[in-house]
Amino acid sequence: MEPIPSPQEILSTKKGKPCLILDGYKYRIHRTTKCYIRWTCTEEKKSKCKGSVTTNLNHQVLRQVIHSCIPNPAAIDVKRKLAVVQKKST
Ligand SMILES: [Zn+2]
Repeated sequence: MEPIPSPQEILSTKKGKPCLILDGYKYRIHRTTKCYIRWTCTEEKKSKCKGSVTTNLNHQVLRQVIHSCIPNPAAIDVKRKLAVVQKKST
């Protein structure tokens, strides 16, 4: 599988877990293997969204499953700002 060039970023949640941001969607880690990380949409439970992403360990996107939820870029902006604040305070 060739990596798909796609702008993505990794933020961390309040609990210190990584959170993947891609195309206005937020993902949390579903499972990690030696080669891949499988991410699922954070709206999975709330919106019954099947959206997910598989990346390699460098967070390059290998595979994407289409979402049934609506992306929420505003919420991600808030999260990004919080992450910056957290970085400054450590
Ligand atoms: Zn989704």
